[in-house]
Order: sequence, then C-alpha cells, then structure tokens
Amino acid sequence: MLEVHDLTVRFGGITALDGVGFEVARGEMVGLIGPNGAGKTTLFNCLTRRHEADSGTVTYEGRDLTAVAPYAIARLGIARTFQNLGLFPRLSVRDNVLVGAHHRGRAGFLTAGLRLPGVRREERALGAEADAVLERLGLTKVAGHPATGLPFGTLKRVELARALVSRPRLLLLDEPVNGLNAAEVEEFAGTLRAIRDAYDLTVIVVEHHMGFVMGLCERIVCLDFGRKIAEGPPTEVQRDPGVIEAYLGTA
Ligand code: ATP
Repeated sequence: MLEVHDLTVRFGGITALDGVGFEVARGEMVGLIGPNGAGKTTLFNCLTRRHEADSGTVTYEGRDLTAVAPYAIARLGIARTFQNLGLFPRLSVRDNVLVGAHHRGRAGFLTAGLRLPGVRREERALGAEADAVLERLGLTKVAGHPATGLPFGTLKRVELARALVSRPRLLLLDEPVNGLNAAEVEEFAGTLRAIRDAYDLTVIVVEHHMGFVMGLCERIVCLDFGRKIAEGPPTEVQRDPGVIEAYLGTA
C-alpha cells in the first residue's frame, strides 16, 4: 500500500530524515519509534504533504504522492491525528467529528452554513455516519458537549473519530496515547484493534509508549537521527542493540 524510498528532508543544517525507506502492506499495523527528534513527525508530514522532501519517493496505492497537492491527501484516503490536539474547543464533539468529512462531496458547505439543493440529504448521511463513529468510540454521551472541558482521554478519542469519519484507508496516528493513564492506554489499544478490522484500515503509529506500541503493532520501524536503524517484529526490535543504545545511550 505504501512504499517510502530513500526519503531525505533537511531543515538548514539539520537532516531530519536521511535516506529512510520502508514498506507497509494493506491491513498492517506498523509502529514508528525513535528517540525525540528522530524524524518521526517529519516522516508523517512528508506522507501528508505538509513537508516537501528534498529527495526520495513516497508511493501510495501505486501513486506518486509527491505529485499530490496537500489538500487532496484526505480524498486519497489518508488521515492523521496530531501530537497536539487540533480540536475546536467551542464546537461540540459531534461538529468536531464532522469537520473530518469536510472534503467529502459538498459536505464542506455544511460548516459554512449553506443550504444548497441536496446538501440536506448529504448532511443527514454524514451525520448518521458521524453518529456511528461516535457510538463505536464510546462518545455518544458527550456528542453535544463542547470539546473544551472534556477529559484529555476523551479528546484523544474525538480526534480519532474525526480521522475515521474521513473514511481513511491509511491512518497515521501521532502519539495517540501520550498523556493517557494505564487504563486508558489499554482501552485505546483495544479500540484501535477493533476499528482496524471494522474499517479495514492500515495504520502507522508514532508512539513513545513502548508497552502500547510493542503490544499493538506487528512490525516496528525505528528511526534515530533521521536514519532507519531497525525494522522487524516487536520482539526483535526490542532486543536490537542499536535500538537499546539509541534509547538508553548504551548497548
Ligand atoms: P518527537 O518524538 O520529539 O516528536 P520526532 O521523531 O517526531 O520527535 P521530528 O519532529 O520529526 O522528530 O524532528 C526531527 C528533527 O527535525 C529535529 O531535529 C527537529 O528539531 C527538526 N525539525 C522538525 N521540524 C522542523 C522545522 N519545521 N524546522 C526546523 N527543524 C525542524
């Protein structure tokens, strides 16, 4: 589904990604790990076209992503969440989720409050879909509540719901369990497994929480200083001396 080849990104004197390459097959759940500043978010930014790579290629479902405009990424079935929540605090949970569908048909007019012929029907269909996603993520009770004031763990789920309502095939999650307590982390992992199957998703997860990412993903890619230093099943990567050294400073 996704082929990243020899990807390099520089910011002035910093090489954030240095010839990174890996592949992701449809239906896989892949963990992208690495110490702070390793280049994980930069990689996501390349996949979603927020950053232009200096060299290398990204091929998604056979299509060269570097030729795709950033605004068209969601239409191709790629959705992401962010390290820092990007929700609208005063909008309700349900409206925050509906924002994720802005690129679908004329649904974008909904948020602009326009009432064009046929838009009502689309509004109902999208509303029903948003409600189904809210239900699946256990958010029905807070659907009408403004995002502001809700617990952080709930907001993380709202962000996930917003990504899901865009009907992604490839879901990129940037530190989805950062800031959650142990019980919430466990619950989030269960939710992800369930939605992966229900929505036929391929998932790449950036995460520092090793228990979460190693328990959830079938394969791990580890970056350090912009380079891929290891790739393989969690048990192998956890034992890899280079990975241990990158995290602990000693092998
Ligand atoms: P973290 O785990 O802390 O989120 P990360 O692995 O996601 O880190 P990136 O945020 O991708 O790492 O950063 C990789 C390198 O590129 C870092 O040295 C960072 O300072 C640098 N960098 C990232 N974005 C920019 C930018 N817009 N301008 C300049 N340097 C940047």
